[in-house]
Amino acid sequence: MHYVCPVCGFDKLDEPAYNKYNEASYEICPCCQFQFGVDDDVEISDGVFMLREETHTIYRNKWVEDGAEIFQPECYPQEFQSDDKVKKEYLIQQLKNIIVSP
Ligand SMILES: [Zn+2]
Repeated sequence: MHYVCPVCGFDKLDEPAYNKYNEASYEICPCCQFQFGVDDDVEISDGVFMLREETHTIYRNKWVEDGAEIFQPECYPQEFQSDDKVKKEYLIQQLKNIIVSP
C-alpha cells in the first residue's frame, strides 16, 4: 500500500503523511523532502501556528519554483526524472494526484 504526499503528489510513500488522528508520520518525502510533523509545524508568532495546508502550499510553490528537485533520486522512477529533477510533463501529472495546477 502506498500513500500520496500532500505536498508534491508523489504517490509512493510507505506511510500516510497523517493518520486518521491527524498525527504526522515524521516520514520525509523522498521526492520533495518535506518532513511531515516538522516542516508543517510553523509558528507565526507566540503560540500561533500556520495551518498545515498553508505550509504545504508554500513549500510546494517554492519546490516547484526551484525546479522540483528530487530528494532521493534512487527512490524515484528513473523514467520520470532528468538531472535529479522531476520532468516537467510528469510533474503536471504528479500534481494532479493532489489536484493542484503548477
Ligand atoms: Zn512530497
